[in-house]
Amino acid sequence: MAPISKETDFLVIGGGSGGLGAARAASARYGAKAMVIEGKRLGGTCVNVGCVPKKVTFNAAAIAETIHQAKSYGFNVQETAPFDWNTFKKKRDAYIQRLNGIYERNLANDKVEYVHGWAKLLSRNQVEVTLDDGTKSVVNAKRILIAVGGNPTIPPQIPGSELGTNSDGFFDIDTLPKKVALVGAGYIAVEFAGMFNALGVETHLFIRYDTFLRHFDPMIQEGVTKEYERLGIKVHKRSAANRVEKDETTGKLTIHYTEGDSEGVVTDVDHLIWAVGRTPATKGLGLEEAGVKVNENGYIVVDDYQNTNVENIYALGDVTGRVELTPVAIAAGRKLAARLYGPEQFRTARLDYDNIPSVVFAHPEVGSIGLTEPQAVEKYGRENLKIYKTNFTAMYYAMMDPEEKGPTSYKLICAGPEEKVVGLHIMGLGSGEMLQGFGVAVKMGATKADFDNCVAIHPTSAEELPSIP
Ligand code: FAD
Ligand code: NDP
Repeated sequence: MAPISKETDFLVIGGGSGGLGAARAASARYGAKAMVIEGKRLGGTCVNVGCVPKKVTFNAAAIAETIHQAKSYGFNVQETAPFDWNTFKKKRDAYIQRLNGIYERNLANDKVEYVHGWAKLLSRNQVEVTLDDGTKSVVNAKRILIAVGGNPTIPPQIPGSELGTNSDGFFDIDTLPKKVALVGAGYIAVEFAGMFNALGVETHLFIRYDTFLRHFDPMIQEGVTKEYERLGIKVHKRSAANRVEKDETTGKLTIHYTEGDSEGVVTDVDHLIWAVGRTPATKGLGLEEAGVKVNENGYIVVDDYQNTNVENIYALGDVTGRVELTPVAIAAGRKLAARLYGPEQFRTARLDYDNIPSVVFAHPEVGSIGLTEPQAVEKYGRENLKIYKTNFTAMYYAMMDPEEKGPTSYKLICAGPEEKVVGLHIMGLGSGEMLQGFGVAVKMGATKADFDNCVAIHPTSAEELPSIP
C-alpha cells in the first residue's frame, strides 16, 4: 500500500454516501486533492447494512408474494415454494462485495486517495489516522468534512435486551427464521416486519402507540398499520418489551411484554431485532479536541451550508440528523464540493432540505413528499387547504379473491387559491417507483390544475393522481 499523504486539501472522514459524494465531486469535477478515510467498508451504511441489501431482500419478499398470487392468474405454481435464505444471503453478500470493489475503483478513477483506517480530529486542520496495522499517521488538511453517519441506537436497558440484535445483525441472519420479534415503529421496523411476513415468518411487532410510521400522514400511518394486521403480522400496540430470556438448549428467545394493561409472552423467537432509531457515530472522533459543537442528541450542529461552528470543518449526512437518507447525504456532499471547489457560480450552492421525497418499502409501499395534513393545517390553516383523497383497488388485484387484495390510497394536499400541491402521499403497489416523477412536479411548485392538465396514463394506478376528483 502506498504511504499515506501528509497533506491534503479536503480530508473526508467516512466513506459512506455523503463522504464519497463530496470527495469524488471535489476531486473529479473540481480538481481538489481529496482523501477519504473509512474504518469499515466503502459505501457505508447504505451499501453494506442499509438500503442496498434491504432492497434486495425486499425484492425476494416481493417475489414470494407474486408466487403466492400467481394462481389467481391461472398459474399452477406451488404456493409454498421453498425459499433458500442461505443461498439468497450468500448471493446478496457477494453482490455487496462487488459493490465495495466498484466503489474502491471509482475512487481510484476519480483520483481520490483512499485510506482504510479510523480517523480522529486533533485540531481544526489535523487528523490522526489509525491504520489497520495499528500505526498512527497525522494528516494536515486545509478542510475537513465529517461524514461518519450513525449506528443503531442501543435499545432500552431491560433484562436480556442484549440477547436481541439490530439492523446490522439482520444482515447476518443466515437461515430463514420461523418466528421473529421487532421493537420500533420507524422505517426499519416496518420494512423488516413486512419482508419477514411476506417470506412466511411469524412476525411480532412491538410499538409504543396505536400506529407506526407516526411521522407520516395519518392516511399512511393508519392505512399501513391496518394492512399489516390484515396480513397477519402480530402488531402489539401500546406495548413494551420488559424482559428477554434465552433457552440455552434451543437458542430460542422468550419475550415478556406489557400491552395496554395486560401482560404477555412470546416464546420460541429466533431473533429479536431492536429498531428504535439511530445514534450519530461521533464517539472517539475528537470533536471536543477540535471544538466542534453537537446538539442535545449528539448530532453535529451545521448551518444551511453544512458549516460547523469551526472554520474549515464541515459535516453532513446522518451525523447531522437532518433527513437521514442516502440521496440527501450524496446531494449535500456534491453541493458542498461545488461550493468549496467549484467555479464562482457555485459559491452559494447548498442543498434545499424542503420537499425531499421518501419511500418506505413496506407492504404496500409508501411514498411521501411535502407536508402531512396536520403540518399543512398548522402552516396554512384548515380554511386555506383543499384535500383530495382517493381509495381504490389496483387493477393487478382484479383477478384475485377479496382476501388477496391490497389497499391503494392517495392524498393530495393543496394550499391557497391557486391550489399549490404542498403534500402528496401515496400508499399502494408501485408507489416506490411512482414517487420520483411526482416529486419533480411538487418540487417545481405544481398546482392541482397542473396535475389535472397532464393527460393520464392508462391503465395504471398512477393515473388516479392527475385526475383525482
Ligand atoms: P454512512 O453511510 O453511515 O457512512 C459513514 C461511514 O463513516 C461509515 O462507513 C463508517 O464506517 C465511517 N466512519 C465512522 N466513523 C469513522 C471514523 N472515525 N473514521 C473513519 N470512518 C468512520 N436511505 C435511503 O435513502 N433509502 C433506503 O432505502 C434506506 N434504507 C436503509 C435501511 C437501513 C437498514 C438503514 C440502517 C439505513 C437505510 N437508509 C436508507 C439510510 C441511509 O443508509 C443513510 O441515510 C446513509 O447511509 C447516510 O450516509 P452517510 O454518508 O451520512 O453515513
Ligand atoms: P426511525 O427514527 O425512523 O424510527 C424509530 C422509531 O422507533 C421512533 O420514531 C419511535 O416511534 C420508535 N421507538 C423509539 N424508541 C422506542 C422504544 N424504546 N421502544 C419502542 N419503539 C421505540 O428509525 P429507524 O431505526 O427505523 O431508521 C433510521 C433512519 O434510517 C430513518 O429515520 C430513515 O431516515 C432511514 N431509513 C430510511 C429508509 C428508507 O428510505 N426507505 C429505510 C430504513 C431507514 P414512536 O415514537 O412511534 O414509538
